[in-house]
Amino acid sequence: MKIVNEIKLSFPSKSCNEGFSRSAAAAFAALADPSVSDISDIKTAVSEAVTNCIVHAYRNKTGIIEMTARILENGRFYIKIKDSGCGISDVKAAMQPLFTTAPEEERAGLGFAVMESFMDKVTVRSRPGKGTTVIMEKQLHTKDGGNERR
Ligand code: ATP
Ligand code: MG
Repeated sequence: MKIVNEIKLSFPSKSCNEGFSRSAAAAFAALADPSVSDISDIKTAVSEAVTNCIVHAYRNKTGIIEMTARILENGRFYIKIKDSGCGISDVKAAMQPLFTTAPEEERAGLGFAVMESFMDKVTVRSRPGKGTTVIMEKQLHTKDGGNERR
């Protein structure tokens, strides 16, 4: 699908950057003139994905998180969040609601379930020791079908 607009952002896995990356993704998506609820859904999903990089991928250390956001033709929003952290050995199990490897930290195991409920499509690729890539897509509810604003 044709890329109408794209940004790339790279930042260390410090918790203060979670809010920044969420706002950056929302500000970028806003260029396509989506609904308020689209923006809010994107913020929530990005927040879950970036938090996972901070608390799981780079547990007890700081690493780089790379974010690529795109507006595709027909007002479709794409976002990729990539880390080079510990990776996930069983992605299918990790994506099940209530699955968590950090119950002692009062994690609910709902991050992936939240991403799936707020976005149309969530794809996770991971290799233990190499890192994890989360790709999410959502059809924006734009006034002009997403094609006028660049
Ligand atoms: P919550 O998101 O509700 O606080 P959680 O983070 O444990 O809890 P999910 O976000 O659904 O729940 O993630 C499930 C599990 O997948 C995590 O407990 C962790 O083991 C693994 N995981 C998720 N993202 C990553 C990542 N980027 N790198 C390594 N492991 C991850
Ligand atoms: Mg989580």
